[in-house]
Amino acid sequence: MELIGVIGGMSWESTAQYLRLLNEGVRDRLGGLHSARLRVATVDFAPIERMQADGDWAAAGEALAQEARSLEAAGAAFALIATNTMHKVYDQVAAAVTIPVLHLGDVTAAAVLEAGLTRVGLLATKYTMEQAFYRDRLAAHGVETVVPDEAGRAAVQRIIYDELCVGRVEASSRDELLAIARGLDAEGIVLGCTELELSVSQEHLDVPVFPTTTLHCAAALDLALSAGRD
Ligand code: GLU
Repeated sequence: MELIGVIGGMSWESTAQYLRLLNEGVRDRLGGLHSARLRVATVDFAPIERMQADGDWAAAGEALAQEARSLEAAGAAFALIATNTMHKVYDQVAAAVTIPVLHLGDVTAAAVLEAGLTRVGLLATKYTMEQAFYRDRLAAHGVETVVPDEAGRAAVQRIIYDELCVGRVEASSRDELLAIARGLDAEGIVLGCTELELSVSQEHLDVPVFPTTTLHCAAALDLALSAGRD
């Protein structure tokens, strides 16, 4: 089993999910007392969120690049950026290290295609929904994304940052997210923010749901265990 590096803290609520899912995945795959070999670098999200809001992506990218270097130095075989939004700076982070960085957009696109779909709704932060970096990455795999209207995008953004990132899972907000998802002309729904699956899951929707935290962890385990060393 290879050592997995996780760049997290954005927010730590979803990083906690990564740790749980990676460990449960190893337990399920290897059994007994096996658990995941991890190095986790968690940042303080407040200054990162400020850089996002200010559009200072270069500074945010350098902050994450530093964390990636620390994971490589600690012996990680590859790294995960445990947030969809910060894939905005994926190239800067990936260029800072020689180990692979497993892109969440590639993992998500693969799952959508595997399900036989090509047109999905994307619920995410406003950065992920409105900018090109994530949607273009999926499009490069042949996956088209549709996003909510402006009011819908603002609602999803508010629920992510004001509630889910600070550990609040409200039933009324889930209903709002589900109404927005159902309003999209799409074959499936990508939960393109690592906190969204704290609120929404497959049982809530009739179309296939793609939870990016779960998908990222499963892909990481495929990679970490593919060497056959345990
Ligand atoms: N974790 C979220 C995501 O997957 C949002 C927080 C952030 O801006 O990183 O996009």
